[in-house]
Amino acid sequence: MLDNLTNRLARVMKTLKGEARLTESNISEALREVRMALLEADVALPVVKDFIAAVKEKAVGEEVIGSLSPGQALIGVVHAELAKVMGDAHEGINFNTQPPAIVLMAGLQGAGKTTTVGKLGKFLRENHKKKVLVVSCDVYRPAAIEQLKSVAGQAGIDFFPSSVGEKPEAIAVAAIDWAKRHYHDVLLVDTAGRLAIDEEMMAEIKRLHAAINPIETLFVVDAMLGQDAVNTAKAFNEALPLTGVVLTKLDGDARGGAALSVRHITGKPIKFAGVGEKLSGLEAFHPERMASRILGMGDVLSLIEEARKGLDEEKAVAFAKKLKSGKGFDLNDFKEQIAQMRNMGGLTALMDKMPAQVAQVAGALPAGAEGKIIGRVEGIINSMTPQERAKPELIKASRKRRIAMGAGVQVQEVNRLLNQFEQTQKMMKQFSKGGIGKLMRGMKGMMPGMGGLGR
Ligand code: GDP
Ligand code: MG
Repeated sequence: MLDNLTNRLARVMKTLKGEARLTESNISEALREVRMALLEADVALPVVKDFIAAVKEKAVGEEVIGSLSPGQALIGVVHAELAKVMGDAHEGINFNTQPPAIVLMAGLQGAGKTTTVGKLGKFLRENHKKKVLVVSCDVYRPAAIEQLKSVAGQAGIDFFPSSVGEKPEAIAVAAIDWAKRHYHDVLLVDTAGRLAIDEEMMAEIKRLHAAINPIETLFVVDAMLGQDAVNTAKAFNEALPLTGVVLTKLDGDARGGAALSVRHITGKPIKFAGVGEKLSGLEAFHPERMASRILGMGDVLSLIEEARKGLDEEKAVAFAKKLKSGKGFDLNDFKEQIAQMRNMGGLTALMDKMPAQVAQVAGALPAGAEGKIIGRVEGIINSMTPQERAKPELIKASRKRRIAMGAGVQVQEVNRLLNQFEQTQKMMKQFSKGGIGKLMRGMKGMMPGMGGLGR
């Protein structure tokens, strides 16, 4: 699977020669290779463009840590971006509704809808202990209904019969009623395949959707289709409020284009991947794991992770030592933390990673303390002398005025900053008394160089 892409990306690593920092010039050749690799893998052009731009932005200036080679460092960035382009964490089926949770399958003929209904039913029965009912609204081919019946039997899930000539909406509504009366947790609704350009068929599935109001509308797509999959996904995404994607036939010689493009193009998460004809061939889709598989460099990736961990721990230990030594938390540390907040995409991103108490104080920073405001706080601290930063108690009225002038702000803002700093310092002292372990754990998430593998 995706071997070609994997091989090309492996070559990229070797094109980078030993330098301590990734620069625009030393990565440009490697990025050209990545671009080629993606285009060859049939990834949609807009996705390739955004991907390369993001890798470039993240990579330039990135320090090559520890024993890594620059090529390995770049692979780290590429890995993180690969994962990102395919989504965030794994998202499963949403059960947050009055049972049954209705799941509507949409997609082209032969995409794997009927097979996926069987696989998903089995998956939900075995892994989530759900009572599953399936129904076929493919009223054009008797064989299709028979196929679902046989698949349901193999999967050990219940089958609601339907027949050619009935209206899809009527079938589905009857199935919902049955599911309610028999306490099914989930109803999977299989549909006839349709071409996106077939307006009548698209209208039919829209009507069906409106009649049953499913909590999940999954777009099932054959990964072997490459870029064509993307065009189809776009059309279905416009016609129906899709909630997720199932990528099938990832076990074949899919080149990767669909996997890497479909999330970016539709904005909908890839929830599951089909990896075989058998009913056991369904996997929860994890973008990060998929990225690792595409890169196919498990050893390098774990090396990178180790290097990053080492760096984070070194910093956390140094920080903890500082607290213990009694020198305490000064404005330099405060500034560093603020800079980290900015690196990490602002306060909200940071909050999750902080101990609750620290997060509370950080929340007391100027309201909406994103970009600009963080910049002002940094500006104020920059206007202080090193001595003032290390000993903020020196900062009295005349110094405050000088600092405010230097930073181009009002004296009140300097006061506010000093107050916030004092609160943070107090809390840090509390931590230093009994909670080093707790603090370290919190700090780990706050350290720079996080952009990479941890997500
Ligand atoms: P539908 O027309 O969308 O209902 O598609 P089907 O479920 O009938 O599947 C079409 C063909 O694709 C069948 O031969 C399936 O066995 C095959 N298929 C479906 N999913 C997968 C998969 O994940 N891997 C492989 N190798 N084959 C699959
Ligand atoms: Mg079918």
